Amino acid sequence: MANSKYEYVKCFEVEDEVMFPNIILVWINACNIHKPYDVNALKLMNSCAVEVLEEYADVVLAYGFGDEYTFVFKKTSKFYERRASKVLSIVISFFSSVFVRKWGEFFPHKELQCSPSFHGRVIPCASTEALQAYLLWRQNICHLSDQHEQCLWRLVERGMNLNEAWDIIKGFDKSELNNLLFDEFNVNYNTLEPIFRQGSCVLKTLVEDIVKYKDNGDPIKRQRRKIITVHSKKIAGKRFWNEHTVLLKDFGGFVEEINNVTPEYVRSFESDIKLMPSTWIVVRIDGCHFHRFSELHEFVKPNDSRALNLMNLCAVAVLEKFWEDIVFAYGVSDEYSFILKKTSDLYQRRASKIVSTIVSFFTSTYVMRWSEFFPQSELKYLPSFDGRAVCYPSTEILRDYLSWRQVDCHINNQYNSCFWKLVASGKSKREAQNSLKGAQLQKKIEELDIDYNKLPVMFRQGSSVYRDKIDTDLIHHENGNTFESNGKVIVEHIDIIGPTFWLEHPNILDE
Ligand code: ATP
Ligand code: ATP
Ligand code: MG
Ligand code: MG
Repeated sequence: MANSKYEYVKCFEVEDEVMFPNIILVWINACNIHKPYDVNALKLMNSCAVEVLEEYADVVLAYGFGDEYTFVFKKTSKFYERRASKVLSIVISFFSSVFVRKWGEFFPHKELQCSPSFHGRVIPCASTEALQAYLLWRQNICHLSDQHEQCLWRLVERGMNLNEAWDIIKGFDKSELNNLLFDEFNVNYNTLEPIFRQGSCVLKTLVEDIVKYKDNGDPIKRQRRKIITVHSKKIAGKRFWNEHTVLLKDFGGFVEEINNVTPEYVRSFESDIKLMPSTWIVVRIDGCHFHRFSELHEFVKPNDSRALNLMNLCAVAVLEKFWEDIVFAYGVSDEYSFILKKTSDLYQRRASKIVSTIVSFFTSTYVMRWSEFFPQSELKYLPSFDGRAVCYPSTEILRDYLSWRQVDCHINNQYNSCFWKLVASGKSKREAQNSLKGAQLQKKIEELDIDYNKLPVMFRQGSSVYRDKIDTDLIHHENGNTFESNGKVIVEHIDIIGPTFWLEHPNILDE
């Protein structure tokens, strides 16, 4: 475990626990990746939601339509001790993994062109009544937006461009949209598939299985949890709720029927905290259970270069995508820290959106590019990453943050080098652990005859990713057009604790 004078930077992290008795909702939404009008896209989303319910025991209900999904945690959940950023990032990261993995099942003839990403937020729901209002609100939006979509894409199919089509239906109410569908396209909206009109509910339910028969022929039954997907007209109604004992048991019943949602509720559902202005933002992501993930995928111990290079490639992709905001990234093992500049106004500095988009994009790139680094090894289970955003008020403290991570890299690497050398020499993992307990690592390295400085520099110093500004100012001429290059994103393995690197690259942390 790391201990250094830089550790104090950890205390800039703020508490974000969702307090009891709030119900935790995770809302996620795709960043421009598909047309919701496409039924296969909806089925893919549903299939991903089912996987989420299978993966996380605490998620009991999900509701989705178009390109969004909401996951509802059971009331008593202690998932990641209810820390909002962790809960959100892990769910969104896992969802992104599944989305990439399952894409081919639903779009066998269409390759995924680029890494998809999702953003989202955690919504604390103070009561079952608030949950009911939330579900009503989302299903109303489903209805309205689907009517729009149905009209819009039919107009487009007929030859209009998107803007023209939008101009026609802009401001239309429900009945006007219905009339347009009927008059122009001979479509009765109410006969369209429920998956479009009503959205999809995924929930855990109890079913009875006959496990065997007694001698007298009577069946022996056992209750089993099963995940089902239904399309229901009124998910915020008593009838739907009462039909599903799992929901009743977990959240209690709805007291009354409601027909509209107050603006105060909507405001609370839409709230998203903004990160303090004029501070450096660090988004740190870290692989979930990578100890197990690395064993299962037979990573070379203690350092698998393929895995590190894949992490680096994903980080480069993140810097290329967010080239205006992210100026530097540092990675080691299963983690990466991304530095957003002080002046960044990415997503108006909304914390959830920044963290979720980066985690999601990183994860889907990781899954998409996995086979290039591990051609012989299929993904046995899907990776996910957690993420958090921390603000640092000065460049000195930000430098201390980076030093903290690089010292951690060094200490862990020393420890792991000794540990695996002991294991290679025939010691059990327990024995190796015991012999390193409280030991001076530098001494151990000498004792074990490890030529530490000969280890690849990537293992010893981690990876730093930034834009090589050398060619920034070069004006390129292509087809007679001139444009300024943003510089190439490069990966280097260097000391970022001392001043040298920063003096040589003054523009990176230039305020
Ligand atoms: P969290 O609950 O905040 O996620 P964690 O142990 O998962 O705690 P991370 O912040 O994800 O910590 O990990 C960053 C690194 O910091 C880890 O490698 C860990 O060794 C180290 N670390 C975690 N907590 C502390 C701490 N309180 N002081 C110093 N180092 C820490
Ligand atoms: P958590 O979910 O709390 O983060 P974790 O199992 O991911 O738990 P970490 O502290 O993040 O624990 O440690 C990451 C683990 O992943 C290390 O134990 C390390 O063995 C393994 N790992 C990550 N990257 C590599 C790599 N490139 N080569 C070998 N092992 C790796
Ligand atoms: Mg980890
Ligand atoms: Mg880690």
